[in-house]
Amino acid sequence: MASKEDKQRKKGILQGFKSQEQEAKIAQMPVSKTDLRDLFDHLDLALQEKGCDNSLTLTDAFLEERHLPVDQTKAWLAQYGGYCDCEVLANVEDEFSKVI
Ligand SMILES: [Zn+2]
Repeated sequence: MASKEDKQRKKGILQGFKSQEQEAKIAQMPVSKTDLRDLFDHLDLALQEKGCDNSLTLTDAFLEERHLPVDQTKAWLAQYGGYCDCEVLANVEDEFSKVI
């Protein structure tokens, strides 16, 4: 039978593994956590106003305004299913809201 200590230890390993995974995910981000959070906030507001036109127009404009790497960031967003502005919010924010 597993002792309480054993269980604690296993839990610790599991959490360590999870945070390692999250750290790797963060390390691959082409923009900072702050920029990403701001992008999500910006899209949230802009989409309510204008709606999604099935492209990354709003994301593009945001990245350009901040002088962030546009192509690299869009390729990265696509990895997480962010092929248009509303998908960036729906898919990418969902994926990263816990780690940023
Ligand atoms: Zn869309």
